[in-house]
Amino acid sequence: MRYADHIAYLVGNTPLVRLGHVTDGIAATVLAKVEYFNPGSSAKDRIARNIIEAAERDGLLEPGGTIVEPTSGNTGVGLALIALQRGYRMIFVVPDKFAGEKVAVLKAYGAEVVMTPTSVPPEHPDSYYSVSDRLAREIPGAFKPNQFANLNGPRGHYETTGPEIWRDTDGQVTHFVAGIGTGGTISGTGRFLKEASAGEVTVIGADPEGSIYSGGPIHGYLVEGVGEDFMPDTFDPKVVDGYERVDDAESFAMTRRLAREEGLLVGGSSGMAVVAALRVARELPKDAVVVVLLPDHGRGYLSKLYDDEWLEKNGFETAPAAGAVAAQAS
Ligand code: PMP
Repeated sequence: MRYADHIAYLVGNTPLVRLGHVTDGIAATVLAKVEYFNPGSSAKDRIARNIIEAAERDGLLEPGGTIVEPTSGNTGVGLALIALQRGYRMIFVVPDKFAGEKVAVLKAYGAEVVMTPTSVPPEHPDSYYSVSDRLAREIPGAFKPNQFANLNGPRGHYETTGPEIWRDTDGQVTHFVAGIGTGGTISGTGRFLKEASAGEVTVIGADPEGSIYSGGPIHGYLVEGVGEDFMPDTFDPKVVDGYERVDDAESFAMTRRLAREEGLLVGGSSGMAVVAALRVARELPKDAVVVVLLPDHGRGYLSKLYDDEWLEKNGFETAPAAGAVAAQAS
């Protein structure tokens, strides 16, 4: 019989899928690494597993311990999955603007959720940073993964995501494209691929317009999970050969095309990464192999970028996919 002893053992080994429709006019092979095949539906399961295993090895997390992290998103789901397998208590601290489905998911996995006001600055005692720090200090046996500073995050990608891409492309990958949030994905995966290829693989960071990584003025944007207004410890800029800046409109239009044309229902940061990958691929010869990482599933964005009213309210076009298909047919 072939079975996993627990769902948490199924993190990683996600498939590569060739993009064959949005790549019209491109000679190079473009392969998507579809991270929603992870049990928590995102790449963050990988860092959750690595961070918790390392904390156990280092004696920072002991049986009966508590995990405290300020997160409402994919990292919370990953941590919850690994924590419940190992019997840890989980407390996630969430700004109240994220109330709703995301919090419901964390609770469904048995986590406790502490809501904090969104409208206070980070240094305020009620901010989500302050509250999570206080809980981590006050609860005996508490461990705070701290995803923006914990180098076991990028190491998880160095040990799994990178080797999987190298293995599944038979070492033929020439370019790797990924969005940057904590920087864990691009830093860990990129470092492995550069080492494995003796520096031959080119690593490109996809960055939302308004984020710090690609330079230019810092301002707000709507694509979630990527871009920052500070440089986290988990990001290693030495690994990145170049950046592509992508605006929200391009990201959301491509995300919807991925669903309709490729059957890939993914989040907005996936669309952003594909826009960047296609810009890169367009300039490359036939034998180039571009791997682009799609971080998460689209189900969490149905009432946002997949919703016409939401798009219109935010000033975006609503039906780029239909237009693109018609243009292709004519
Ligand atoms: N996309 C989504 C949806 C994410 O949640 C994240 C993680 N913040 C990223 C992209 C970026 O990944 P990383 O933190 O490894 O840079």
